[in-house]
Amino acid sequence: MDTEWMTAGKCQDMPPSVFFPNDGVGVEIARRICADCPVKAPCLEYALLNRIDHGVWGGSSERERRRIARRRRLETVNDSR
Ligand code: SF4
Repeated sequence: MDTEWMTAGKCQDMPPSVFFPNDGVGVEIARRICADCPVKAPCLEYALLNRIDHGVWGGSSERERRRIARRRRLETVNDSR
């Protein structure tokens, strides 16, 4: 997958630790930064495609990505019926 989008991320010059929070408050802080990031969509797809378990990517927490992945799997199953 193309990773050129990474250079345009709002987090480019921020400490990576901001996007690997230890609690819900930290997740919310990261999510707010991601909210108006110009590469939010490809960032989320990258994390989903690569099954990245940790951190906030594309404005989504680990739990939210698991939910999105589960929903997509179900949609794929339903579409193939
Ligand atoms: S969406 Fe968030 S984690 Fe992804 S590049 Fe933008 S600021 Fe960084």
